Amino acid sequence: MALEMKTACEKCGAELGPRDQVYICSYECTFCANCAESLNTVCPNYNGELVVRPRRENKEL
Ligand SMILES: [Zn+2]
Ligand SMILES: [Zn+2]
Repeated sequence: MALEMKTACEKCGAELGPRDQVYICSYECTFCANCAESLNTVCPNYNGELVVRPRRENKEL
């Protein structure tokens, strides 16, 4: 199954653009940087580690 491009933080609902720093867990929960920091980079749903999703660079916008 292909990775879906989520566009909103699951916690605060903030919109996440392709150039924003986005944190994801291994179950593809998606959080903005502020929420990830407030959660100590631990997913509240699965207690998994949140990692920074690689940003897409040099791509057509
Ligand atoms: Zn958030
Ligand atoms: Zn998660």
